Amino acid sequence: MKSKNIGINTICTHIGEVEDKQFKGAVSPLYMSSSYAYEDVDVKRYPRYFNTPNQEALCKKIAMLEKSEAGLIFGSGMAAVSTTMLAFLHKGDHVVLPQTLYGGTYNFVVEEFHKFGIEYSFAEGFSEADFSEKIQKNTKVIFVETPSNPLMRITDLEMISRIAKQRGIVTMIDNTFASPVNQTPADFGIDIMIHSATKYMGGHSDILAGAVAASEEHIKIIWNLAKNLGGSLSDYTVWLLERSMKTMVLRVKAQNKNAKKMAKWLDKHPLVEKVYYPGLKRHPDHELAKKQMNGYTGMLSFEINESLNVGDFLKALKMIKPSMSLAGVESTILSPAKTSHALLSAEERKRQNISDGLLRFSVGIEETEDIIADLEGAFQKISKMQKI
Ligand code: PLP
Repeated sequence: MKSKNIGINTICTHIGEVEDKQFKGAVSPLYMSSSYAYEDVDVKRYPRYFNTPNQEALCKKIAMLEKSEAGLIFGSGMAAVSTTMLAFLHKGDHVVLPQTLYGGTYNFVVEEFHKFGIEYSFAEGFSEADFSEKIQKNTKVIFVETPSNPLMRITDLEMISRIAKQRGIVTMIDNTFASPVNQTPADFGIDIMIHSATKYMGGHSDILAGAVAASEEHIKIIWNLAKNLGGSLSDYTVWLLERSMKTMVLRVKAQNKNAKKMAKWLDKHPLVEKVYYPGLKRHPDHELAKKQMNGYTGMLSFEINESLNVGDFLKALKMIKPSMSLAGVESTILSPAKTSHALLSAEERKRQNISDGLLRFSVGIEETEDIIADLEGAFQKISKMQKI
């Protein structure tokens, strides 16, 4: 299939398939070879060159989903983030990032950049002024993550692209939380889209992978470094990821729908203090989310009443799994204060509005009646325990 105007479900199902010329099977055959001929061939193939038949094919699906010319598949989201940033940042360069950033990306920046002589600044908020005031003469990259984790704040992509283009700065987005189903940043002029494919692209909590989509020119720059760093994905996992992505739109739309219902239900619950979901009208960035997103994602956060013990609440759940990571078809929940933000001081967590009662909820595809029954059962159990 070649048409650029095909629908997103068709892209997920058909683009990036390896044609089975030998047996004419309905799905991609898996080429596990790590050794390919070098004589009389157009391309010298090797898994660490990111160009085996399965790798190459899946890159086409990722690129088309992100409305980009080319793509690359990595061994993890962090391999994608680190390789892409380092490909565009050299000694003496500077990057602007938001303060609320995925913990792994934050650690990569603060623990590694000084070794490379790369400077960085964190924008303190999400406005144009917050980002603009951090830009320096040597700023080469603006990196954003929207929606943010865990408070689901939204950064204006059109604004980021405008302030960057005026100064010849490359823009990158970690588009993991939204997925290409809910947000295509290329529409707003963002240059490079990065994903932890471990999340919505994989969608079943059983794959670790990363993905990048951009222009051919930018992908070439990333590839030049990627082949030296060696963070490619094994072909078996590439094949599994391609299979998982066929149902991505169906999964993500079901998760969007469930999360919206859950956000509304939690918002009315007497033991819930606050709900953070951009799909709620009173979310501070609702209008912006409406403008730049196609759906509000399956992710939300909520704060339970401070008189309740978070640990007891999580233990009282029967179906929803308290676990790390996100975006699987099963609902999962975690306490940011005890996981992603545990290394921050209590004071810093308070400054960032990460309370001990805050829970990040990755809503799955189960029936909402069952998700509600599980949460309500846990609320009732712990309110009895704590005599509320
Ligand atoms: N970006 C975001 C927003 C994430 O949530 C994660 C992982 O949780 C990553 C990047 C890193 O991805 P991986 O764990 O696949 O390396």
